[in-house]
Amino acid sequence: MVRRQGSRPRKHFPQQPASDKSAADIIRELRGGIAAPSDYREQSLKIHGLICAKCGREFDAKNRQLLTVHHKDGNHQNNPPDGSNWENLCAYCHEDEHSRGVLGEYLRESEREKK
Ligand SMILES: [Zn+2]
Ligand SMILES: [Zn+2]
Repeated sequence: MVRRQGSRPRKHFPQQPASDKSAADIIRELRGGIAAPSDYREQSLKIHGLICAKCGREFDAKNRQLLTVHHKDGNHQNNPPDGSNWENLCAYCHEDEHSRGVLGEYLRESEREKK
């Protein structure tokens, strides 16, 4: 008795992880709950308040977009959830802060902080 082998090739289904998480959720988990770059501004405003750390100008819901978040060590990837690397600066003070340092760093940062 001869059996033909291979007449019914086994189908291999790729294992799809059952997940209804969005990519953003997954990234957030990978980061260990640390605020994603797009969130750090809100976090910093929440922690430090709507006030410029340099000139003391206060902001409210209407003009809060003029308040930007400065990274004290210049590293935009360094976003500790306790806000220790963030400083809330108004647009003028922020520009002043960076005009003393490397202008290129400010230009790159302002691109990210526009939101
Ligand atoms: Zn200021
Ligand atoms: Zn800055």
